[in-house]
Amino acid sequence: MTLRVYNYLSRQEETFEPLHPGFVGMYVCGPTVYGDAHIGHAKAYITFDVVHRYLEYLGYRVRYVQNITDVGHLVGDGDEGEDKIGRQARVERVEPMEIVESYTRNYFRDMDVLNVRRPDISPRASGHVPEQIELAQELLTKGHAYASNGNVYFSVPSWPTYGKLSRRKVDDLEEGARLEVAGDKRDPRDFAVWRAATSGHLMQWNSPWGKGFPGWHAECTVMARKYLGLPFDIHGGGLENIFPHNESEIAQSEAAYGGAFARYWLLNNMVTIDGTKMGKSQGNSLTVQQALTGKHDRLSQPYSPMTVRYFILSSHYRQTTDFTDEALSAAARGYERLLGTVGLVRQMLAKQDSHNSTIDAQFSATLVDLKTRFEEAMNNDFNTPQALAALFDFNRAVNTLVNSQQPVSSGTLEAIDNTYRQLGGDVLGIIPAEISTQGAGAAGLEDELVQILITLRTAARKNKDYATSDAIRDQLAAAGVILEDRPDGTVWKINR
Ligand SMILES: [Zn+2]
Repeated sequence: MTLRVYNYLSRQEETFEPLHPGFVGMYVCGPTVYGDAHIGHAKAYITFDVVHRYLEYLGYRVRYVQNITDVGHLVGDGDEGEDKIGRQARVERVEPMEIVESYTRNYFRDMDVLNVRRPDISPRASGHVPEQIELAQELLTKGHAYASNGNVYFSVPSWPTYGKLSRRKVDDLEEGARLEVAGDKRDPRDFAVWRAATSGHLMQWNSPWGKGFPGWHAECTVMARKYLGLPFDIHGGGLENIFPHNESEIAQSEAAYGGAFARYWLLNNMVTIDGTKMGKSQGNSLTVQQALTGKHDRLSQPYSPMTVRYFILSSHYRQTTDFTDEALSAAARGYERLLGTVGLVRQMLAKQDSHNSTIDAQFSATLVDLKTRFEEAMNNDFNTPQALAALFDFNRAVNTLVNSQQPVSSGTLEAIDNTYRQLGGDVLGIIPAEISTQGAGAAGLEDELVQILITLRTAARKNKDYATSDAIRDQLAAAGVILEDRPDGTVWKINR
């Protein structure tokens, strides 16, 4: 069995063969850190986390690079509008780097809780300005860019393969681009590699063209090359950024450095909420925190991080994931069923006083069958819904086994638990290594108890009984539960 992946560059499924045997270099476009992570981020980074984990399962050593965009990403995603970080800094009246710090921390906090393993390198755009200046210089030398009023623009007409990833024809681009103000560009399709800073711009660096800042696409071009070399194996990202971002990354790299950029392009599809495309402007967005706390008008209850992760993996990454309260509730129930059986197996295993390593002959066929189906699914372009279906069939068989009145050998239980740990834990990241002895409901109980205390504290404050309300807050804090009062109510987090 070999791994096959859908490569957006060829628009075909291809056999995956890394450039250097046994080693995979993977770059994934990271978040622009000007706001809290939303469920679109959750889908993207859970997707590539599972890609990362499955490649390791197959025995590859993976170097996973995922950038943090902290400068250069403009509001319009192209060359128009304010810098997203700069704008947020102005709104919150803080330094741009304070925005970057706080939202980068929130991003990792949210991804950690969703059990997304951290990338090996998380480089920041602002830490790679000299490399981006060099890229602009290289493009100027090779005649694929020109300087204009302190900007450096990539010349799209000078690069005939521009459009090969997004399959946009150059003429179509011209049609669309004509509507925009070309300004100091020679061709409306050209894009900025380096931008002149206006005096009010909060983030700027010296360059041969005056004070300025790098274009958004430049960072991924230089950071992927710096940490993975050219070409590298996998470039991941969200389908919505295929143009102009990914397209321009390729053009800049190939025009400046020659040869290919990335060999396989894996792009995840978007997330919708109740069937509608998510967008901040439409007031139709859902952050990871809102999903986890249930504080959102479309949600009836909070959902556990593992439910969110399981729900995202229950559709294929190249399909749209529709977040609805109903679908999440169903996912929560399905997930609890799975975890309930895992917990039961572990409790039975813990109670065995003598070890019998024999694995039940009949059940070992079930184990082999699961592994085969699971690998087939994952080798088929990381088909996680199929892999989960195999895991659930297995789970049903385990249920039948442990609920029969026949004794089950500790060897069989151990083999079952190891399988859960490997496929459900290591690869899919949905089965924790430790489940509380009280079973799957324990995490929900903790939630409920904290909610009861929050309600009591709110009541105390309403009655101006500040001694009681402060005591509740302080004692929860001592236990590692931090309360945070917000205009829409009190939220809590664990800080141990
Ligand atoms: Zn990127």
